[in-house]
Amino acid sequence: IDSRFPAMGTTIFTVMSRLAAECSAVNLAQGFPDFQAEDALFDAMHRHLRAGRNQYAPMAGMPELRTAIAGKVAALYGAAYDSETEITVTAGATQAIFTAIAAFVRPGDEVIVFAPVYDSYVPAIETVGGKAVYAHLRFPDYAPDWDEVRALITPRTRMIVINSPHNPTGALLSAADLDALAGVVRGSDIVVLSDEVYEHILFDGEAHASLSGHLELAARSIVVSSFGKTYHITGWKIGYVVGPAALMAEFRKVHQFNVFTVHGPSQLAIADYMQDASRHLGLAAFYQEKRDAFRQLLAATPFELLPCRGTYFQLARYERMSELADRDFAEWLTREVGVAVIPVSVFQPDGRDDKVVRFCFAKREETLVAAAARLQRAF
Ligand code: PMP
Ligand code: GLN
Repeated sequence: IDSRFPAMGTTIFTVMSRLAAECSAVNLAQGFPDFQAEDALFDAMHRHLRAGRNQYAPMAGMPELRTAIAGKVAALYGAAYDSETEITVTAGATQAIFTAIAAFVRPGDEVIVFAPVYDSYVPAIETVGGKAVYAHLRFPDYAPDWDEVRALITPRTRMIVINSPHNPTGALLSAADLDALAGVVRGSDIVVLSDEVYEHILFDGEAHASLSGHLELAARSIVVSSFGKTYHITGWKIGYVVGPAALMAEFRKVHQFNVFTVHGPSQLAIADYMQDASRHLGLAAFYQEKRDAFRQLLAATPFELLPCRGTYFQLARYERMSELADRDFAEWLTREVGVAVIPVSVFQPDGRDDKVVRFCFAKREETLVAAAARLQRAF
């Protein structure tokens, strides 16, 4: 076949999860919890299934869930989104991101992304004929350089995609970063797409700087989140976007013909489950304990740990341990040591290799201990 995307490979998450299974390695590569969500969530799902809520949800999502999202976003970020016109439920953040890009980016338009960049953004941009333009997060603290971003703006810049807390680095954008971004886009018609799927996973008392809560930016932004991360249900693939009505109307033009609507009973179950805010508010403390335990375990190895301020990913440098390029090191670690990780160079447009790998610590204590034991034995 004459492939439309000859250079597009298979996502690293599939590659590493497959290799991990093949080698019976502990899979700390792909980001997903290996523990179960609470029964209350499943009980709610069963109730709605049995009550017959099994036909199409409205295109924008179940009203019960959109109302719950509006309440949460208002409570956390002081933002007033209208659940009728400004909130749409999606099949996870991946569909939300793809649909937003398809809704706003015309062929030939430029979209600024930050490297290292989460792996679905650029293929989505290129699928609709846009061009990714890279700003660089500074190694090793992964801070953005807003002067660089300003210099990258051209008349074709249509969108800027940001992600905080940031996958794969665990870095955060501050309120000052959002002000700087507002300064960069002021006076333009650039749309900001803000991937905030880890909005509840920030450590050491840090507060999430959501674009929803930034009045000036919110007026031109689509903000994305995912219940997969928040409620330990990545397989349900339920996420959402919020944004001003004019932008949301454009988003929905694509959404209606992209998926029309997403799995209904899950939406109803999540709407019930969200009523107890401690379930999302408790996530930071829950994962901070895992982060701290995992860092402690890795301290007994020669890995050099980078800061982890949010997300459930820990970056580590392995320069003292191996000369291998990070992809080769990740493969070797999976095959020979039995611990699967993600090489961070896959998120770099030019393959830049800082000899850093990403561990996912959204795992049971025994999983983390088993992985650490293998690493300690090997090094
Ligand atoms: N954005 C980022 C930064 C992510 O880490 C992920 C999932 N790991 C997604 C988007 C996709 O989320 P979902 O699984 O809800 O599609
Ligand atoms: N976002 C998850 C990660 O970073 C994986 C999602 C996926 O497999 N597409 O590991």
